Amino acid sequence: MRAYDVIMKKRDGHTLSREEIEFMVMGYVKGGIPDYQMSAFLMAVYLKGMNDKETTDLTLVFVDSGDKVDLSSISGVKVDKHSTGGVGDTTTLILAPIVAAAGLPVAKMSGRGLGHTGGTLDKLESIPGLSVDLTQEKFFRQVQEFGIAVIGQTGNLVPADKKIYALRDVTATVESIALIASSIMSKKIAAGSDTILLDVKVGSGAFMKNLQMAKDLATAMVDIGKLSGRDVKALLTNMDEPLGAMIGNALEVHEAILILNNKLNNTPLYEVSLILAGHLIHMGKRADSFEEGLKIAKEVLQNGLAAEKFKQMIKAQGGDPGVVDDVNLLPQPKFKEDVLAENEGYVYSINAQEVGIATAVLGAGRCKKEDIIDPAVGIIMKKRVGDIVKKGDVLAQIWSNNEQKTRHSKDILLKSLDIRTTKPQKLPLIYDLVE
Ligand code: URA
Ligand code: CA
Repeated sequence: MRAYDVIMKKRDGHTLSREEIEFMVMGYVKGGIPDYQMSAFLMAVYLKGMNDKETTDLTLVFVDSGDKVDLSSISGVKVDKHSTGGVGDTTTLILAPIVAAAGLPVAKMSGRGLGHTGGTLDKLESIPGLSVDLTQEKFFRQVQEFGIAVIGQTGNLVPADKKIYALRDVTATVESIALIASSIMSKKIAAGSDTILLDVKVGSGAFMKNLQMAKDLATAMVDIGKLSGRDVKALLTNMDEPLGAMIGNALEVHEAILILNNKLNNTPLYEVSLILAGHLIHMGKRADSFEEGLKIAKEVLQNGLAAEKFKQMIKAQGGDPGVVDDVNLLPQPKFKEDVLAENEGYVYSINAQEVGIATAVLGAGRCKKEDIIDPAVGIIMKKRVGDIVKKGDVLAQIWSNNEQKTRHSKDILLKSLDIRTTKPQKLPLIYDLVE
């Protein structure tokens, strides 16, 4: 087999076999195929696409390129949830304790934030003392004992994706449904789950800016599930404005705690988290329907079991569980500054990506992998799209440790909010379920 012939075959729009896909991917990982041939191959895939079988083969070749987590020693259905990434998207911290309290084992490997979206690991590390670097043995033991652990990746999972993603990033081949779907699904499958719920975000703060592309991606990932014997569902949810009101690392833990303590139960973050939890409890066979799963999710919130689970997890990972009773034990900033409305009208739109950037410049996010995060800083949004504002109303509050960064953040934040005299159209929070 020659790389040239495989590239030509895809260039001309033909279907590749598993062997041909494996030849390209593994040849590239091992160094036998150079960047320029892989680049041409990726562009051919970008332009001609892949069918469901090819996309599934690509996913499974990716999975086989590295280590796989074996969760078989943990009894029960192993469920996992993945979000394609958004701003103020703290659902994992809410639904993991809910689902664990409902009796499903949560053995979750999460990621760090890069760019304008936050990562679950960075958020968790804002809890004093908490560690996300557990050995596999300790990870398994914690899941056996408490039914919940959220940690950083262990082992060398999907090295092929790491290498190919870096090449896609510089060759304008990221935005391909087949390539995105196989990249995401390979990492989830390698992490050991057989039941996967995807939260595909759509809108200004998301990777997928329009609904049709998000639907195509969701369908491709559900199809990979069908062809690889995994139970996969995808929820399409709105990310045109930040999901939660509190954005930043400790602030997102703070908002999750308010929800786990039943102090916040009519917000979009609450709703999306509960709907995801309801589906997971159903997919994990702890309920006969989504509706029953949702009912159980509400019960474990109301009776305090979910908050208790979160405490158990924090304690097991070396953190101070007292934060669940007193959020003031979370890192606090030096300054809190209100951002006031300069004119009146309706909040017509809030660009979630810009709000994410306004948070990142305070020190809550990373521009480069090596950047150090300030857990205490962030933004509390006081208005949502559709709200009426008068001149001088508080639009948001900035939590900061540096006055210059506060000013920079405030400038970006004010530009992200569009205030007009016309009332905006109300967009749904949940667009669709693909299964
Ligand atoms: N996220 C991923 O993990 N992979 C992609 O290709 C795009 C987004
Ligand atoms: Ca399809």
